[in-house]
Order: sequence, then structure tokens, then C-alpha cells
Amino acid sequence: MAEQDVIRITGARVHNLKNVSLTIPKNKITVFTGVSGSGKSSLVFDTVGVEAQRRLNATFPWFIRNQLPKYERPQADAVENLTPPVIVDQKPVGGDARSTVGTMTDVYSMVRALFARHEGPDGRVSSYSFNDPAGMCPECEGLGRTVQVDLELFFDRSKSLQDGAIQYPEYKVGSPDWQIWVNSGRFDPAKPLKDFTGKEWDDLLHGTGGPKIKVKTKNVSFQTDYEGVIDRFTRLNLKRDLSALSAKRRETVERFMNSGVCPACEGARLNAAALATRINGRNIAEWCSMQITDLRKELTGIDDPVAVPIAAALERIVAIGLGYLSLDRPTPTLSGGEGQRLKMVRHLGSELTGLTYIFDEPSVGLHPRDVERLTEQLRALRDQGNTVLVVEHDPDVIAVADHVVDVGPGAGAHGGEIVFSGDLKSLRGSGTATGRALGVKAEIKKDVRTPRGELRIEGADLHNLKNVTVTIPAGVLTAVTGVAGAGKSTLIGEVFRASRPEAVFVDQSPIAASSRSTPATYLGMMDPIRKLFAKAGGVDAGLFSFNSKGACEECQGRGVIITELAFADPVTVHCETCRGRRFKEEVLAHRLRDASIADVLEMPAGTAAEFFTEKALRAKAQALIDVGLGYLTLGQPLSSLSGGELQRIKLADRLGRTGEIYVLDEPTTGLHLSDVDTLMALLDRIVDEGNTVVVVEHHLDVVRQADWVIDLGPEGGHDGGRVVFTGTPGDLVGSTDSITAEYLRRHVR
Ligand code: ADP
Ligand code: ADP
Ligand code: ZN
Ligand code: ZN
Repeated sequence: MAEQDVIRITGARVHNLKNVSLTIPKNKITVFTGVSGSGKSSLVFDTVGVEAQRRLNATFPWFIRNQLPKYERPQADAVENLTPPVIVDQKPVGGDARSTVGTMTDVYSMVRALFARHEGPDGRVSSYSFNDPAGMCPECEGLGRTVQVDLELFFDRSKSLQDGAIQYPEYKVGSPDWQIWVNSGRFDPAKPLKDFTGKEWDDLLHGTGGPKIKVKTKNVSFQTDYEGVIDRFTRLNLKRDLSALSAKRRETVERFMNSGVCPACEGARLNAAALATRINGRNIAEWCSMQITDLRKELTGIDDPVAVPIAAALERIVAIGLGYLSLDRPTPTLSGGEGQRLKMVRHLGSELTGLTYIFDEPSVGLHPRDVERLTEQLRALRDQGNTVLVVEHDPDVIAVADHVVDVGPGAGAHGGEIVFSGDLKSLRGSGTATGRALGVKAEIKKDVRTPRGELRIEGADLHNLKNVTVTIPAGVLTAVTGVAGAGKSTLIGEVFRASRPEAVFVDQSPIAASSRSTPATYLGMMDPIRKLFAKAGGVDAGLFSFNSKGACEECQGRGVIITELAFADPVTVHCETCRGRRFKEEVLAHRLRDASIADVLEMPAGTAAEFFTEKALRAKAQALIDVGLGYLTLGQPLSSLSGGELQRIKLADRLGRTGEIYVLDEPTTGLHLSDVDTLMALLDRIVDEGNTVVVVEHHLDVVRQADWVIDLGPEGGHDGGRVVFTGTPGDLVGSTDSITAEYLRRHVR
């Protein structure tokens, strides 16, 4: 291939990469495979992605560059022939309360244009924006929700002012504020508030004017104007940026507030004028609350050229399997996978070519049916003239690859090499773990377990659920399946969760902890390790803690320096003083069986299980191996782990218990086909130890090996929310109404 047709990487050494050199064809789909921890992300994101971003940023003038995140040059001899990158990852879309599916995809601005045109030559696009004073509801300022003072909490109406009727602590009896009301002469301080006339009550809450009032504090006395209790509270606490208040004060203030749908706009976010315009009988808020599949149909009846690009944009959202969403859905409520696919929508519509798109496991959260739609979109990006790089485990995504790069052979120090690079057909015959796994014949589990009881969910109707009553068998492994938007998370993650407070939800959310948290701290290994070092060296155990005087002063024991940026992700660079080792030289001089504390922290769990002769430490390291994380080092920051890895660390912490109900959301995320077997063995073990396990999962290798399947659907959104099938995987293969059944049949054939 000609030099300009490939991206050329020479001598990449990021993380575990072993001086890797390879070429990646441009204008093709390249899928990167390999067991988790083998180095795929280190190659694709941390080498190609970072260098491409760094080069792109370097093309901007300095005053723009200063605002952009700084990227450290990746450890590689050269990365050449890059094109501008578009990184579509799973970081939560987040956004503030004003960000919705409509604003994020820019579809909302087109809908606004449609409404402005409909109104006639005077209609202005800004008058339909809830982010613009011209359109926003004045009451909630476009948020759709308001916070109000909870008067029932704020006052104890059975009491008088002098007996402490005002509950807000800053206005307690004797306080300067309290004197304003008591000294005003407007009320009888001994009269219980429940006996106040309407006028008195209103005056207490919102009164103004009148003579100045004397107020005495410990040191001074002064005169001030009258101000009602609630007006004063609102002015001093709520009319300011809440984030400017101290955390403690904010907490107190929030205790006296409640939030609800805005009474003025009823959640529509817009002012009355904007809501008055209707197209086909619906105002803009009603349009945006429709399910996208319905909205698309509605648009076909509208005779305006602006409707055309809107329909095309909605079509792309549907094509990517998100037609069950609505434009007004707040982005903070989207899952990582939904967010990633929506980010994709923005690019699918653009005519830009010559870019490098980089995707991180885009199949996450997708039913095999939706994966099929996703792969069509990847092809479309390529055919538009772009390079598409995808880190993926799903065989159906691997199947559309023009080129496959298999990283391995193992994880961590046992990986970091390119074990295969070529087309899919040659991969199958290559004998690598990926090649072999792709050829394995899938079989349905026959000897399913007998339940030991049942857990019922009755009449669930949250979100799209249609009065769902279903039984989850106890003491077995149940898979909950269904296309995206069918209602799986709602049924299991919300309804079941709320009704079973004793169940343990092992999710993929970050572990709320400091930037110093590591597998060793999470599993409680650090204390015993520090004591061992202290005993060996005859010194204080505290010396070996990352937040003690033994820690490197430059990075405060983090090993890295983190710079927070106002408008971008924080930037992390290696600490040069300790070279990432976190401790001072004198601390590192202490040895335990020849290893320093930093050496121990750099040990993969697999090595640590042999290094420690102490039973408890050995067992914790073994638990990491048992959940398939033997490659993680004890000191790796938890913040660098994927959601799937975090989920398995949480499991490692709970192995050996019995009588529990465990619920896992897509535990195969980030798992190689061959790792799925390890996961299944782990889940089987947990069930055999006497627990109930429920997994929300699309992976057909999990579904076929479950004891029981609950399939929701048939489609997403309002066309879903029903139980389509319950039974064993063997029965599911024979089912005719379930989309999951259809894909399971193909899978096991
Ligand atoms: P994959 O994407 O194939 O799962 P990664 O590239 O994420 O693998 O990881 C490869 C190796 O690099 C693993 O041993 C992993 O633990 C390690 N690693 C990943 N990120 C970091 C990091 N920020 N700091 C140190 N080691 C890391
Ligand atoms: P699944 O887990 O099967 O993908 P979900 O339970 O996430 O499906 O979604 C089922 C339906 O409920 C969808 O129509 C979705 O848009 C809606 N939904 C889910 N979460 C929310 C939310 N926080 N607010 C409004 N609607 C939601
Ligand atoms: Zn409002
Ligand atoms: Zn340091």
C-alpha cells in the first residue's frame, strides 16, 4: 500500500505496549481485538488518538491552544500520516440541566426554525429557545423545574416568633435576622403563627417598606429596612449562584427547599408566547416530548423545506437504535452507550471527509438487532471517505472489519504485542485467542438449575413499563434481555432495586473515592501491607501511606500531577520527582522480601498472589484473579479502569458470601469472547455458593448459558415495556415472538 494510504506507528511503548510497530489502512474499518488489558486502548486511544489530537491542536493559534487540553506526546518513536481525529467514547455526555437530546444533536434548533417560519415573517428562532431569555419560561428560567422554599419545614406554625417558629437555623431566636421580624412592630411576637391573619402571614413572608428597624448584635447596633422572611432567604441564598455558597451552608439551604415541575410552564421550559404557536395542533414542547419514531412520522405531513433536514436527522437517530428517545430527554439521564451513539449522530450527518473516527466498544448496551444497525452506520462513515478505528469484542462488529488488529497474547505484562494484523478470514485461521474464539460452536445450556424460591415484581409501570408482573427465580442465574429501550434498566435497575433494598447492585459506576484509590486500597490490602513493611524495617507503618509524610511531596503520593481545566477534561502528567513511584527515596529503601513498597504496588495481582505468604493478602489477590483481573497492578489508579473492570473489582470484594441477590448490568462490557467464559464460570460459582444472580445482558453467550431468561419488548419506548418471553434458554430458541430468540437461533446454529 502506498505510504499516504496508511497510518504508520513505530515503536509504541505506552503502558504495556512492547515497542509496537504497525500500519493501519486509511479509509477502511479497522477493528482492534484482544483480551481485556491486552493494550487495545493504549494503542488506539492513548497512542493514535492522543497524537492525532496533539497534532490537530498544534495547528491552532496560541491563544486558542491555551484553552485546549494539553496532550503529552505518547511514548512512541513515530506516529505518522494521521488525519484529524473524532473520538467517540463512552464518557457520560453529562451536560447541565439545559442539555437535552434535541440540543445536543442540534435537531432542536431546526425544529425552532420550523416553528419560527410557521409563525410567519416576524417569527424569531430565539423566541423558541429555552436557553434564550426571549423564549424561556421566566419562572424557571428554562429549566422546566423550580425549587421552592418548603414552608412546612421552614416554619413550625404551632409556635410564636419568640418561641422559635422559624426553623431555619440562621434565623433562630435572638439572631440579627430574627430581630427584623420581632422588632418590626408588625406582629405580636407571642402569637402562634397559625393564628396570624392572611395579611400578617403575607407580611411575614413577603412584606416590604415601613420604618427602619433596630437590630443589635454582640458588638454593634444598626438600623435596617424591613424584609419578609422568605424574600430575605431567597435573596441571600437562592438568587446567587448556589455553588458560591459554602458546602455546609448549601446543605442547610437545600434541606429547606423542595424541587418540582415548574408550575408556570408545567415542565415545558418555554414562556406562554412560545407555547402559543402550534403546528398540527401541537406546541413545540409537545413535539419534543414525542417519541422520535412518532415525531418522524408526524413530520412527513408538513409542507416546509425545513422539515426535510429534520426528518433526515431523526432518521439517523432511529437508524442507530435510539428512536425510543424523545428530543426533550435530558442528557444527564442517558446511559454511556446511548450517549456515545448520540455523539455519533452529529457526525453521521456531516459531510466532512478525511477524518479518523475512533470508537470505544460501540456495541455496549446494544441488542444484536441494534448492533446490526450500528455496523451499517460504521460502513456509512467509511464510505463517506473516513478512517474508522473501533475497539470491539462483538463478533458482529468484528465481522464488518476490512482489517483486524489483534493485540495480545495475554493481558498487562503478558500482552502489548500485535499477534495478528490482516483480514478477517486470515484471523480465523491464525490461532490467536480471538481467532479461535470466533470459531467456537455455541451451545445452549440444557442442565438448568432448579429455583429455590421466587422474587416477584408486581404491576410495574414506571417509564414505558406496561403493568409488568414477573417472577425472578431465586438461587439461579437469570438473564434479562430485550432491544435498547425495551425497559430492562427501568424494570431491574429502578423498580426491582427499589422493592428489594437488600439486593446488591454491582454496577459499572465509578467507585466514589479519591484519586489515590487503587485495587489494593479498595480491597483493604494496604493496611496489612504497610504493617508488613513497618515490621520489616522497624519503622512507623504510616510512612508507607500515599497520604503521609512518606509520600512524594511534588505529587502528594499520586504519582501524577493532575491539572484541572475549566472547559475540558483534567490533564494528567507523570510526576517527574518520584517518576510515578509515589514515595520518597528513603521510603523506597525499605524492603519486604527484596521488594520496595512501589514494587509491590506495581505488581499485577497474579504475581502478588504468589509474592504474599500471608493468607489474607493472598486471598484478596486471588479474588482479583478469580474475577479475571489478575493483570491489574495493586497500585493502578481506579480512575484508569473501565466500567467493566470496576464492576469486577466490586465482585472480587464480595466473593465467598451466600444468600445474597446480585444484580449486574451488562457484565460482559469490555470482555473478550474468551473472557466471557471466565465471567460465566465466576457467575456460576457465585450462584453455586448459594446466591441469586440477575444479569441485564445482550451477550448471547451469557443468554444461552443462563438458567432462566426474561425477555422484554417487543421494541423500545412505547412499543416495548412488556414481558415477551420467560423460560429457559432452550425454550427461548423455539419462541416465535421474541427478537432475542431470532438472534439466539442464528447464534447457536
Ligand atoms: P485494553 O484496552 O486491551 O483492555 P488497556 O490498553 O486499557 O487494555 O491496558 C493495557 C495495560 O495497560 C493493562 O495492563 C492496564 O492495566 C494498563 N493501563 C491502562 N491504563 C493505565 C494507566 N492509566 N496507568 C497505568 N497502567 C495502565
Ligand atoms: P433498556 O434498559 O431496555 O435499554 P430503559 O429502561 O433504559 O430501556 O428505557 C425504557 C424506556 O424508558 C425508554 O423509552 C426510555 O426512553 C425511558 N426512560 C428511561 N429512563 C428514563 C428517564 N430517566 N426519564 C425518562 N424516560 C426514561
Ligand atoms: Zn417554567
Ligand atoms: Zn511524585
